[in-house]
Amino acid sequence: MGIIHELPVELSNQIAAGEVIERPASVVKELVENSIDAQATQVLITVKQAGLKFIEVNDNGKGISADDVEVAFLPHTTSKIADDHDLFNIKTLGFRGEALASIASVSKLTVLSSTDGKSAIKAKFSGNELIKKETFARSKGTTMTVEDLFFNTPARLKYVKSLHTELNKIVDIVDRLAMGHPEISFRLIHEGKDLVWTSGNNNLQQTIAGIYGRMVASHMLEFENSDPDYEIRGFFSKPDTTRSNRNYVSIILNGRYIKNFQLTTAIIRGYGSKLMVARFPIAVIDIKMDPSLVDINVHPTKQEVRLSNEGHIGDLISEGIKNRLSGQNLIPDAVKNL
Ligand code: ADP
Ligand code: MG
Repeated sequence: MGIIHELPVELSNQIAAGEVIERPASVVKELVENSIDAQATQVLITVKQAGLKFIEVNDNGKGISADDVEVAFLPHTTSKIADDHDLFNIKTLGFRGEALASIASVSKLTVLSSTDGKSAIKAKFSGNELIKKETFARSKGTTMTVEDLFFNTPARLKYVKSLHTELNKIVDIVDRLAMGHPEISFRLIHEGKDLVWTSGNNNLQQTIAGIYGRMVASHMLEFENSDPDYEIRGFFSKPDTTRSNRNYVSIILNGRYIKNFQLTTAIIRGYGSKLMVARFPIAVIDIKMDPSLVDINVHPTKQEVRLSNEGHIGDLISEGIKNRLSGQNLIPDAVKNL
């Protein structure tokens, strides 16, 4: 008799959740990315106790049909890709079909969704088990409610940091998703307080203002340095407005916030000697390129991607910033007014 057997589906989902659902902010990221992929124009995120008690993401996207609602929560089920051609041409934020199954396996999840703005389906899961399904009414779109995250995985719950830290991570991820999608209005409410609110009027500078404040955004410089293969534009702070770490740099690639050391370094290189040692700019760089030249399938959270021609993209960024700065009067306003 062999000793190898397939794992029960609940267990394999929990193992997958260990990779993608590290903390409350991971749930927010996955749910909001689904709203973006569903072509929502408004996304409302409501959170209690830094997401550990309650996370709700409400969108006006295309919705999930009654036929699909259970399938959506099975592992490796997606509407976004079908074959290997699609896998090498990813145009959506999601494609692994893992998030809903993973989140549902470590929480109590309720989905309420309508594809036509009339009838809606409501389904309740607890630790991946469907416990209730009923019809309802609601406007077109989807509401996902995640309660008692990690209630059945005490080790993961223990690993979660202070509420303050967890909330900051949620704010950070919503900020980055919003900067990647100025055409969508995002609102984040924690315990009744607005923490992020962007207009969704498709103006990147105004979106940045909604996140870093009007003062910072209005003093940023805009640049563009595209070539036939790469469309590169963005906003960056003047050398007199800096921060003590790199966290204020956002690189958005085809609508996806990515972490990329080489491109971040390219931004800094663009400032040359104008930036003081150990000071870092505020910058939002938007890159559009052929999706077939990006390998997103490197890490389950998809924040690290592999780019062909990273050096060239970096050169376009640093050159664009350098050229824009060289034409700029860099004397700070306070000095000018003397
Ligand atoms: P993926 O995003 O990788 O496809 P998920 O597990 O996150 O996998 O979601 C599974 C499927 O459920 C999606 O492919 C999509 O069809 C559907 N879905 C999830 N969230 C939404 C939403 N907010 N609006 C519409 N459809 C959704
Ligand atoms: Mg998804």
